[in-house]
Amino acid sequence: MASPLTKKILILDFDGVITELNLPQDLAKATFPGILGRILSKCLGLVEDKLRSTLIKPLRMFVEFRSALRVLPCSDVEPFLKVADYPIYLASMQTGIVLDYFLRKHGLKKYFKEVISSDRFRTKEAQIRYIINLEGKARYLLVDDSEWNVSHLASLGIKTFLLKRQQKQTLFDVYFN
Ligand SMILES: [Mg+2]
Repeated sequence: MASPLTKKILILDFDGVITELNLPQDLAKATFPGILGRILSKCLGLVEDKLRSTLIKPLRMFVEFRSALRVLPCSDVEPFLKVADYPIYLASMQTGIVLDYFLRKHGLKKYFKEVISSDRFRTKEAQIRYIINLEGKARYLLVDDSEWNVSHLASLGIKTFLLKRQQKQTLFDVYFN
């Protein structure tokens, strides 16, 4: 067993990290049809978690499923998961059934120590706190594509890494020391 000083725990986001989904845009367009949805979709990245938690679950699941069916995992994901030598959690505001379906379909579920969805914790912060309580003293790294998550969740005493898929960054660019 790794000592607390060397124990490392990696926490990955789903949308924008495992896939190139952009759920804030899809949710805005589904909730507010027409031009209002298109306008809102441009500025919702900052409040992604809050938006999701305010939607009724059936609508959220419908949009999430529809989106998850049309995307693949990013090409670097499985190669990275195969070689990463520390426990990896998936922490996502997606509903659990969507995550489970996607990860099983693409053979990725086995790489995660635990998959944590919005069914159990309604905020990303609560998800991270759960992992910290579970694992205890360790070095944690959250990889997320949300600037809000990366800047605010660092206050929990964890390292954060903003993954920019649009700039062709991959999980192999993640810096964990
Ligand atoms: Mg994301």
